[in-house]
Amino acid sequence: MKLPKEQILEIFRDTKALLEGHFQLTSGLHSPQYFQCARVLQFPKHLHLLCGEIARHFEYNEVEVVISPAIGGVVVGTEVGRMLGARTIFAERKDGKMELRRGFEIAPGERVLVVEDVVTTGGSTKEVIELVSNSKGTVVGTGCIVDRSNGKVQFNTKQFAVLLMETVAYQPDECPLCKSGSKVIKPGSRGNY
Ligand code: ZN
Repeated sequence: MKLPKEQILEIFRDTKALLEGHFQLTSGLHSPQYFQCARVLQFPKHLHLLCGEIARHFEYNEVEVVISPAIGGVVVGTEVGRMLGARTIFAERKDGKMELRRGFEIAPGERVLVVEDVVTTGGSTKEVIELVSNSKGTVVGTGCIVDRSNGKVQFNTKQFAVLLMETVAYQPDECPLCKSGSKVIKPGSRGNY
């Protein structure tokens, strides 16, 4: 039983996780919308509800390890991992490269679910998939709360998003919001939200 899209959108609006304006996404693209996912995930009942959708989707996939890219994915990974009773780790960037640190390891053949909060270009998820493959782990699937590519980004594995959204995003030099003189906001930076 998948949550209705309208119900999820309502939760995002209520918690001001869905912002409207002029934003620079992590990918560098500009957009009139931004999902500040952390805003919805700060509430245990919403975290539980949304992560429950991911956990339920993969409950019969014998997930042994849940991994997420830091920082945004960590809270989702922890909740999904808890629900699936799976060991939960995260990958983080060092000198721009996604790595396992803190003594985290993936054993050859371990069944790994990759989770993320928001997928936009899928870059972080793809890097984590590569990291799992390099460790000889088996990627059983990917799950995210919001897929802003509306399903266009494909990871060539069992793939699930709680919410699929069409993204309007522009290259900075082609952004009509910039051209109209509006100042772009980098969400998450100090002073913004
Ligand atoms: Zn812009």
